[in-house]
Amino acid sequence: MSNRISVAYGDGIGPEIMQACLAIFEAAGAGLEIDPIVIGEKMYASGHSGGISDDDWNTLVRNKVFFKAPITTPQGGGFKSLNVTVRKTLGLYANVRPVRALHPFVHTRHPDMDLVIIRENEEDLYAGIEHRQTNEVYQCLKLMSRPGSEKIIRFAFEYARSAGRKKITCMSKDNIMKLTDGLFHKVFDEVAQEYPDIEADHWIIDIGTAKLADTPEVFDVIVLPNLYGDILSDVAGQIGGSVGLAGSANIGEACAMFEAIHGSAPPLAGKNVANPSGLLMGGVQMLNYLGKNEVAERVENAWLKTLEDGIHTADFHDGTQNRPSVSTTEFRDAVIERLGQKPSQLPVVSYPRDAKRIEVALKPQPTPKRECEGIDIFLFEDNRDPQALGERLEQAAEGSALELIMVTNRGVKVFPHGNPLTFCTDHWRCRFLARDSKADLPPAELLAMQQRLLDAGLDIIKTENLYRFDGQRGYSLGQGQ
Ligand code: NAD
Repeated sequence: MSNRISVAYGDGIGPEIMQACLAIFEAAGAGLEIDPIVIGEKMYASGHSGGISDDDWNTLVRNKVFFKAPITTPQGGGFKSLNVTVRKTLGLYANVRPVRALHPFVHTRHPDMDLVIIRENEEDLYAGIEHRQTNEVYQCLKLMSRPGSEKIIRFAFEYARSAGRKKITCMSKDNIMKLTDGLFHKVFDEVAQEYPDIEADHWIIDIGTAKLADTPEVFDVIVLPNLYGDILSDVAGQIGGSVGLAGSANIGEACAMFEAIHGSAPPLAGKNVANPSGLLMGGVQMLNYLGKNEVAERVENAWLKTLEDGIHTADFHDGTQNRPSVSTTEFRDAVIERLGQKPSQLPVVSYPRDAKRIEVALKPQPTPKRECEGIDIFLFEDNRDPQALGERLEQAAEGSALELIMVTNRGVKVFPHGNPLTFCTDHWRCRFLARDSKADLPPAELLAMQQRLLDAGLDIIKTENLYRFDGQRGYSLGQGQ
């Protein structure tokens, strides 16, 4: 395995905490060969809207392993999030964030907390496909795929097995989003059957988050879609003691990126006060990924001993340590001095020497039979009278292969038989289904229906075809349909 990695020193406190981590790794005998790259503020300011130059991008792709300090995200439009670009372009589909309590050395109300959050990293609302469709309505597309869901869920089960963890909890909101989150939950249940040695359960995300904030010790590994995972992992980091202590790994099939979960903390920059622990823990995951399990173990045990000895930076120093807080460089030196030592009260860390990188293989899926049974046509219409709109639509559809089934406004049925109390915006979804329920409508019929609406003076803003897959409805019903 290569020792060569790309390193970005980042912005704000980034350079200080990165230098501290690299010094600890060198003293621990990691033997890393480093290609420094420049990302973030400087690159944005010099006109690279993606936050990185082409040369440095090539270095990232060549080295495959990337150790990254936090960067400052520029305010305002026109800039692309470097984090999202790196994750998506390098296919880093799995975000892994272990969070455990370090009680009594780091204050937490949850002394027995010890969990790992595995978050899907590429899909969901982070596809970043957003549109303003009417004067009043904006949309963000939530895209979930079967391979994307299966990959992260299989990864979570493989991770649990290799880390000796016993239980996986899936969280989703499939009581509301029955197709997208429903897919994630369904794939979870399917994959769980292949791992009878691991207990599997599912929580609805809202009550699951409340449970995590209240009794995190009941969770072991949690696997989630992207947005829920983003939120839940910060909640977990915070209640575990401090977001400054947690690191994360972004793992793909060929590449990986390791970082702290916190940002660049600009007000602390250059003051030698920042806590390097989060980045260090991201780096420990990197050492394990590189097969340097013994070095990873040595660094983490020395770090735990440092915490036990009451050597804390100001962000998590709570006055109970009987000594003042230390600077970034003092903390670094304290960890280096303790290399080879083990914690006496916190559990000693040991990583298996033969651990393999996690690889997942997707189960081939049969191609379903897809038939089109209708179309949702979305309209911009400023007149808020659903009855009048419905009648215009029915008239337009007369004599065509399609009939109007309903009109909804923000998902609630307002025609026929709407409730006058329903608030209406200027954005209407009009559902047309084939009069022959067994029909597989050709595209020409769908276009003909749209032409009829245009001829009736209606303003189409988008359409969605309504399909059956192997006879199963591939779209949700309207509320009240
Ligand atoms: P932040 O995480 O930088 O800071 C939040 C709070 O935690 C601040 O009080 C800060 O002083 C403290 N803090 C964070 N890390 C610390 C450390 N290592 N030691 C001591 N204290 C620490 O979040 P923010 O202020 O919302 O964001 C600042 C910048 O970082 C923004 O530009 C944001 O976009 C960026 N950011 C980058 C990443 C990344 O590169 N992965 C992640 C999050 C935020």
